[in-house]
Amino acid sequence: MISAVMPTYGRADIAFERGEGAWLWSTDGRRYLDFGSGVAVTALGHCHPRLVKALQDQAATLWHTSNLYRVPGQERVAGRLVAESFADTAFFCNSGAEANECAIKMARKHHDDAGSPQRGQIICATGAFHGRTLATLAAGGQEKHLKGFDPVTPGFVHVPFGNLNALRAAIGPETAAIMVEPVQGEGGLVPASADYLRGLRAAADEFGLLLIFDEVQTGMGRTGRLFAHQHADLAPDIMTLAKGLGGGFPVGACLATEKAAACLTAGTHGSTFGGNPLAMAVAGTVLDVMAEPGFMDRVAVMGARLRSGLDALAARHPAVIEEVRGLGLMLGIKARIPNTELSARLLAAGLLTVGAGDNVVRLLPPLIIGDAEIEAALSILDRTLTEVTP
Ligand SMILES: *Cc1c(COP(=O)(O)O)cnc(C)c1O
Repeated sequence: MISAVMPTYGRADIAFERGEGAWLWSTDGRRYLDFGSGVAVTALGHCHPRLVKALQDQAATLWHTSNLYRVPGQERVAGRLVAESFADTAFFCNSGAEANECAIKMARKHHDDAGSPQRGQIICATGAFHGRTLATLAAGGQEKHLKGFDPVTPGFVHVPFGNLNALRAAIGPETAAIMVEPVQGEGGLVPASADYLRGLRAAADEFGLLLIFDEVQTGMGRTGRLFAHQHADLAPDIMTLAKGLGGGFPVGACLATEKAAACLTAGTHGSTFGGNPLAMAVAGTVLDVMAEPGFMDRVAVMGARLRSGLDALAARHPAVIEEVRGLGLMLGIKARIPNTELSARLLAAGLLTVGAGDNVVRLLPPLIIGDAEIEAALSILDRTLTEVTP
């Protein structure tokens, strides 16, 4: 008999009842070190006192009014995001997929308004992940996610990630935009080189395309800069955010330049829940905490520390680790044994991780992680890697 909860996930048989910082407690009383952060979401750890207070205060004041009225929290958060980025404006929604839907609609309408309605096609990269709605599934283009859901939403083509020649060859009279993740997350922690990102910018400029960065996973400090593309010192026309933006409260955003966003006039796009006062109270506080002096530098330092610990483990366990890769606190171990087996062993040993494509185990600790927790995780990894060495 089907379970009351629709069985769309392969879940581990474990439930958590409490969290604090980088730690979670399961209903059977065990303590776990959380290096998954709910898939890069709880950027400030569990129950960060400032987020708890922001949410509680807002909950006692006003939850929801809809977008029929001004929402002062949106004005505040959008102002902050605009001040910290290339963007001039932000649209709020509830998830990463929705943020990407906004980006895709914007790219198409931008060209339609400019008198080129045939320019509706988005060039994406192989190995991409952009969400689970019908359009974002087509944008991801992964067979394992699309299978059984034909017809595939048209308007997306794919070229190998990292290959500028293939990208340029795919540009045609119907191309509207290029959409990529600065570091592919679900695809296996594959960072784009700065040269590749600059090449995308140049191609977009040359052919009048919009450049969309999906920073749903890489954004909000995950890579040691507020937005991952800032490492490469260039700007897209559109950027999507979600995961870390609400620190665990569902909220997404699509940021854009005035030129790109001018097409989305009143009535062209919307969301009932998007950017409600609760979401904005939390997102605003996430931004406040991340803007504190030294916060982002510390993420970079902790990322480098975890990375060097992992590199040392890779040298000690070459039979199990093929490679360590990623950026900041978005790191992956490409395993020589099934990543699902390694993840399950780490879970049993008290360390939560997340699987990714290309047989990678993802390490996505909260950005507030400290030395002691990194040491604890490395020591669980060391023991587990010894155990699984064939
Ligand atoms: C998680 C993710 C999404 C989808 O976000 P949802 O909130 O699950 O819709 C889109 N793009 C990237 C890069 C992601 O990592």
